[in-house]
Parts: sequence; C-alpha cells; structure tokens
Amino acid sequence: MKNALITGVTGQDGSYLAEFLLEKGYTVYGLRRRTSTPNYENVQHIKDRIRWISGDLTDLASLIEAVRSADPDEVYNLAAQSFVASSWPQPLATGQMTALSVTNMLEAVRIAKPGARFYQASSSEMFGKVVETPQKETTPFYPRSPYGVAKVYGHWITVNYRESFGMFACSGILFNHESPRRGLEFVTRKVSDGVARIKLGLANELRMGNLDALRDWGFAGDYVKAMWLMLQQDEPDDYVIATGEMHSVRELLEIAFSYVGLDYRDYVVIDPEFVRPAEVDLLLGDCSKAKEKLGWSLDVGFRELVHMMVDADLKRVKAEQNM
Ligand code: GDP
Repeated sequence: MKNALITGVTGQDGSYLAEFLLEKGYTVYGLRRRTSTPNYENVQHIKDRIRWISGDLTDLASLIEAVRSADPDEVYNLAAQSFVASSWPQPLATGQMTALSVTNMLEAVRIAKPGARFYQASSSEMFGKVVETPQKETTPFYPRSPYGVAKVYGHWITVNYRESFGMFACSGILFNHESPRRGLEFVTRKVSDGVARIKLGLANELRMGNLDALRDWGFAGDYVKAMWLMLQQDEPDDYVIATGEMHSVRELLEIAFSYVGLDYRDYVVIDPEFVRPAEVDLLLGDCSKAKEKLGWSLDVGFRELVHMMVDADLKRVKAEQNM
C-alpha cells in the first residue's frame, strides 16, 4: 500500500489522478489551501476518500509539514496558476504559484522525505513559438506568456534537483488535455458550455479569440496514467505526452456545433478581448519516447473528446436550469 500526495487535487488533473490512484489501492493525500468558498466540484464523488492536508504552495513550512504527515511514496505537483490568459494581468502571482512554488515543493520533499518520487506538471506551453515541429523532449523552449516562462522554470528546477540531489524527480511535458472537468475559461470547455447554452436556448452567441490556433488536444483521463507510469520506472526522466494530432480552434467549433445540429458560423463572434498579447500558433507533440519507454497509449480521440464534453455540459446545464 503506497501513499501519494497530490497538490492541485481539486483541479481537473488532480481529480482524475486521485481516482486512478485510489483505484490502485493508494492512500491519497490532497493538499488544500484555505478559501472562504471551497470548490470541491471535481472531487465531490471521492471527497471522503481523500485525506485532506492544509497547506499553501507559497508557504514552505506548511509544505514540509504536509510531506511529513502524508509520508508519501509519490508526490504529484499539479497545483499552479494554470490559465495562460490570466498570466499577463497577473505575471508575478503566476511566477509565485507556477514557478517558485515548484522549488517550495521540491525543498519540502528534500527536507522531509527525500526518497519520495516527484512528478512535476510541465507544459507544452514551454515550446511556445515553436522552433521545430513536432515538439519532443529535446526541442528547445521558447515560451510566449508569463505562464510559459514560469513553467520553464518549474521544468528546469525539477531537472536540477534530480541532478543536484539525486532525487527521483520527473517532468511530464503534457500537451493540452481536456475533459468535462476542465475550467470553463479554457477554449474546449468554453465551447462545449457555449454550445450547450445555445442549443438549450439560453444564449445566442459565443465570443471567441483566435480561431486559427492549432493545438494537440487529448483526454485528461488518459494523461494522468502517464504521470503515474513515469514514477514507476527504474530511472527518473522527462517525457512528452501528446496525441500527435493537431486541430484548429475552428475545427473544434465545427465539431462541437455540428454535433448538436448547428453551424458555428451562425453563433461565433470574434471579440478582441479574447485575443492574446502573444500567441502560441501551433503545438504538436511527438510522444514516441513515452510510448516506447512507458508503454503509454491513449484511448479517447479528439472527436470523441469533444462529443463527451458537449454531452456533459448539456446534461449539467439542463440540471442547473431544471429543464
Ligand atoms: P492554452 O493552450 O493553455 O492557452 O489553452 P486554452 O484552451 O486557453 O487556449 C487554446 C487556444 O485557443 C489558444 O491559442 C487561444 O488563443 C485560443 N482561443 C481562441 N479563442 C479563445 C477563447 O475564447 N478562450 C480561450 N481560452 N482560448 C481561445
């Protein structure tokens, strides 16, 4: 029986990972920070099975105490300010929560449980203005947002603790991964929610930014398995996790609207508010290393993912509206 400590457990990935580890018989500890309006939406169904520890990513003492009390075999560091667009208006907070907090977690593990295995949630946003396509583990980083810059720091500090202290620390470079539990501000969920509202007669337009952006979108439930696999290897290493397929935002709209019998061109309005100061035009991952070394593969394809998200939002919005 192993212990796992997850930061960011109430987020999309944390909730899927907690389910996955509980299923495997792990004792799952979840770090939570005090808020006056707690949000357990993603983990409501497993809330009683998670052992909750109070702590804050920006407070090292609380993290040392969290690692001491969880006594984890594995630590999954998923907590961050994770929305790219918010990183321009809040660059310093993003630096604290997405970059420096990784050092806080690594320090807490180094001090309180140096033998624990450590997973850092790195991001394809580190590739930003891509210097080669597809992007793999050896592709140089060129981040395009304060968020991307912060994630590059998190990646390299993880590598550095592995090399400096011999810690079993892995960095998973995950390309965009989505689900019905994705935050409503991210483009996939914004679209599935918008489609549901329009279909149900609650809205008549959807305001969007750059429709030409290309992303490699997978299903979050498939991606958390890769996190776990990385920590089961003999040696710590870094891996790209992606589908190897690229789709545009326009294609996402087309698939989501046509699924409910609508044409996106009748509803989508371009709004400069959603256009970013610097854009990541395309991301496409090459995950051959993960396939070969971890034996990782994915189950859910892009179209199926979009349909799953639209179905879930139709159901949720109907329930909210008593329809
Ligand atoms: P990101 O890849 O982590 O930034 O994930 P997002 O889901 O936030 O954005 C993916 C892409 O969709 C980016 O290139 C955005 O510029 C583009 N996009 C276009 N319109 C929108 C929008 O209304 N909201 C968001 N979040 N992204 C949009």
